[in-house]
Amino acid sequence: MNVQQPARLAATLVVPVPDPAALRARLIEHLGRYAESETTPTGDVLLSSELGLSRLTIEAGGLRIASESGDAAGLAYIKMIMADHVLEFTGPGLTLHWTGAGAAGSPLPFFRAMTVTAVRTVGRFRRLTLAGDDLGRFAEGGLHVRLLLPPEGAAQRWPVTGDDGRPFWPDDNPPPARVYTLRGIDVAAGRVEIDMLLHGEHADAPGAAFAARARPGDLVGMTGPGGGDLPAAADYLLFADETALPAVARMLAEMPAGRRVRAFVEVEDQADRQALPTAAAAEVVWLCRRHGEGLEAAAAAIGADDLAPDTIVWGGMEHAARRALHRRAIDVWGLPRSRMRLASYWRRGKAGDDHRHDD
Ligand SMILES: Cc1cc2nc3c(=O)[nH]c(=O)nc-3n(C[C@H](O)[C@H](O)[C@H](O)COP(=O)(O)OP(=O)(O)OC[C@H]3O[C@@H](n4cnc5c(N)ncnc54)[C@H](O)[C@@H]3O)c2cc1C
Repeated sequence: MNVQQPARLAATLVVPVPDPAALRARLIEHLGRYAESETTPTGDVLLSSELGLSRLTIEAGGLRIASESGDAAGLAYIKMIMADHVLEFTGPGLTLHWTGAGAAGSPLPFFRAMTVTAVRTVGRFRRLTLAGDDLGRFAEGGLHVRLLLPPEGAAQRWPVTGDDGRPFWPDDNPPPARVYTLRGIDVAAGRVEIDMLLHGEHADAPGAAFAARARPGDLVGMTGPGGGDLPAAADYLLFADETALPAVARMLAEMPAGRRVRAFVEVEDQADRQALPTAAAAEVVWLCRRHGEGLEAAAAAIGADDLAPDTIVWGGMEHAARRALHRRAIDVWGLPRSRMRLASYWRRGKAGDDHRHDD
């Protein structure tokens, strides 16, 4: 019988460095958090993750990185991640050149140009419908995307694959990027829905400003998806402020019957509550800051005995709140990392998402 193997896409990078062993050790140290590493009998190191596989070989001319993936986007991410790390460790002077699949100048497989087709106001959110082609890969592997938000009136040219595997901007003008959740996705219709919060004090911030001014016909870039899938479990405990409410809405909408969910959602006041349809057995507790309620107090009222043995604890919120919840999950609830998905969605006083720290 002839068993058809999925096609593998492959690309190779030779990094010309005087001490390839030292570079390889640093790559393994840094990428080991996301990829499994294994040394072969010939002394090569294999790094494997859900994106694909890379073989790291020490040669006379430097370090050879031979990468492969079953998916063009997976390979493109590997190339970008490798190049980012190599240049961080060697300094920016080095010129990198990948050979193989995903040639320089070709479209970036994880990028889509999207057009705003509808905008409406939902409480403190602007709900944007964006249309684009070939959205299948955005339906799996994570809920969030990075929106590339050109300033008003800018004539934006979008990135292509660079020679070094990183995005190449033809006009050298990458716009600000911010992370948002696909609250809904309809692959067949080529549509996604995003709820963008109008966080009042910072009306000129790229995300909030775009949300306020967006009109049908506006263009945005979108890369992703990211964040990984929620592990399967019988019980979930969710904690969210407004920025993670779209993620809670999507998780509940996609949760099958038979799962139990308790969700704590912190909002400004009762008017911010939304309907959150689900097939799961879900209890949603709305906490109103205006009445002095918040995630920290809600979490403090939960003891280790209140958690079913396989409960997955998920959360998205401000940086300091995430740290407090993370500490409680370890010190009080005794949860292992495998049962926690706690992320900082924004940080008071800091722009962008460089502060992010996922668990
Ligand atoms: C995985 C993930 C998913 C996310 N999904 C969503 C989503 O679906 N919808 C959504 O609205 N946001 C979401 N966020 C949060 C969003 O990325 C941040 O709020 C982001 O900072 C907004 O960018 P900005 O340009 O408006 O503000 P920035 O330029 O990043 O920040 C400017 C100032 O505004 C402050 N600020 C940022 N966010 C808030 C806030 N929520 N409340 C008060 N002050 C704030 C900052 O502290 C800073 O002082 C998500 C974040 C992550 C990491």
